[in-house]
Amino acid sequence: EAAKPILSVNNIEVIYDHVILVLKGVSLSVPAGGITALLGANGAGKTTTLKAISNLLHAERGEVTKGTIVFEGDQVQALSPNELVRRGCIQVMEGRHCFGHLSVEDNLMTGAFTRRDGKAEINRDLEMVYEYFPRLRVRRASQAGYTSGGEQQMTAIGRALMSRPKMILLDEPSMGLAPQLVEEIFEIVKKLNEEQDVSFLLAEQNTNVALRYAKYGYILESGRVVLDGAAEALRTNEDVKEFYLGVG
Ligand code: ATP
Repeated sequence: EAAKPILSVNNIEVIYDHVILVLKGVSLSVPAGGITALLGANGAGKTTTLKAISNLLHAERGEVTKGTIVFEGDQVQALSPNELVRRGCIQVMEGRHCFGHLSVEDNLMTGAFTRRDGKAEINRDLEMVYEYFPRLRVRRASQAGYTSGGEQQMTAIGRALMSRPKMILLDEPSMGLAPQLVEEIFEIVKKLNEEQDVSFLLAEQNTNVALRYAKYGYILESGRVVLDGAAEALRTNEDVKEFYLGVG
């Protein structure tokens, strides 16, 4: 059970605009081959944690001031986002972030931009994405901006898959989607984890769903991990039930 971590985040602090301390020493780890949930209310710091890992904060005038991020045994906190993608760790942003004016297929192909292997391998992976997301094959020529919210979320995950990731940082995949679609997307996440050996760090406000698919969870509150444990234990924890599962 004590699988080697593929990712560990050690005591990171993040400051926005030189003054606002948003993460106050967050530590977490994701075992190789695992699905780990990062839970918490709106504004708790989930997105900031993922962006800190991907090194995407600089563009927003946020910075990691303390702590280390280790991916596959190497410290990566000083790497560019693209270098991290090349090494196999990629973030799928909240809100889907497709190129609305491009076709679904062109969106998927943009995900291969860091690869140095050939067209044949890239086309094989495109086929693999369509096998996981049959809806995207049907919609391949449609302008992404005119596809449904669920299809855009699938396109965003599919695009990440085109970089051949070992790990995906998935930000709020359930946001704005009907329950049945949420389930459909989490089922695909589970299959990708099992069949393609992709590890996931999953930021979610939908604690209930996330804890059904994750093995382990961390709960963030105001930039601190206030509770962590096996998903099963969190699901039955009275405080978690009261504050995060809405079962009071
Ligand atoms: P969400 O569900 O909105 O994604 P979250 O848990 O991911 O919530 P963050 O987006 O990480 O939370 O935000 C954490 C805190 O940092 C919030 O108080 C937010 O207002 C603040 N914050 C986020 N982005 C910035 C920014 N670019 N500049 C300044 N403050 C920010």
